[in-house]
Amino acid sequence: MNVGVLGAGTMGHGITQVVAMAGHDVVMRDIQVEFVERGIDSIESNLQEGVDREKVSSETKAATLERIDGTIDLAEAVEEADLVIEAVPEDMSLKRETVEDVESLAPDDALIASNTSSLSLTEIASALERPERAIGLHFFNPVHLMRLVEIVVPEQASEETVATAESFVEGIDKEPVVVRDSAGFATSRLGVTLGVEAMRMLEEGVADPQALDAAMELGYNHPMGPIELGDVVGLDVRLDILEHLREELGERFRPPQILRQKVRAGKLGRKSGEGFYVWEDGEIVGVSGEYASAPGGDEQ
Ligand code: NAD
Repeated sequence: MNVGVLGAGTMGHGITQVVAMAGHDVVMRDIQVEFVERGIDSIESNLQEGVDREKVSSETKAATLERIDGTIDLAEAVEEADLVIEAVPEDMSLKRETVEDVESLAPDDALIASNTSSLSLTEIASALERPERAIGLHFFNPVHLMRLVEIVVPEQASEETVATAESFVEGIDKEPVVVRDSAGFATSRLGVTLGVEAMRMLEEGVADPQALDAAMELGYNHPMGPIELGDVVGLDVRLDILEHLREELGERFRPPQILRQKVRAGKLGRKSGEGFYVWEDGEIVGVSGEYASAPGGDEQ
């Protein structure tokens, strides 16, 4: 297959790597030469890490890189593509513009996929003249390590589009999960639900952050507890997702006051050095004392 990947950032370069490793030819496009080069460098160093850990052979590394081209020219990335996957920034107008441009340049039967993590696929698809060939392929970060690809099905998608997407995902050694296009898909909606309840439990003084995290890690084999995960994802990101889900799905996704206060205080989690935990060099070094004094109950 010929695959065009749009965006060479965190997700774009990861998607390019796994697709090329599976034997497809990929052209990765970004808007500046240095962004394309940075993406290719990241792929190369990821593969080298695989070689160093004896997970990837030197031959696979060389063959994978051989199958990847980088460009800043959109036509070059999509004009021979059977599948185009966009991984440009999370902005509805940009996504719609991007898929519209792709449709004008790509072959008529090419599948047009979006890696959006939260936007409506149905709305993205409606920018196309032939929306039945649009689909969501929601990869997870880091792409080369995460097994899941959520296949998000817009209202307009044809059965053939869904079937092609499923066999493509299986062919790149990932596990597809098919969900209808709806707010938060399956992953964000379920993931956030646990996180938000854990924050309410902190507010109510049910247990401290370590106890809540240990309960899910040890009792349910979660690799990371819900409070720590919120800090890792970023509390501002969590708040945005909750606001969106509340708007789309109702009050059960109302953000807890404790989360709003953290974000207002700039305590965003690992990236700012403090959230519900205190972080140094990406590691937890303590617990933030703040939650204990936050007002109880959800926002009224
Ligand atoms: P990023 O900022 O790391 O990369 C985006 C890249 O797109 C940048 O290099 C930017 O220069 C480039 N770009 C901008 N306009 C472009 C255009 N018109 N054509 C081609 N490239 C263009 O962002 P990211 O984290 O890789 O996110 C990309 C998409 O993937 C978003 O929709 C995001 O919601 C989704 N996503 C992100 C994650 C994650 O954990 N980062 C996980 C799943 C899905």
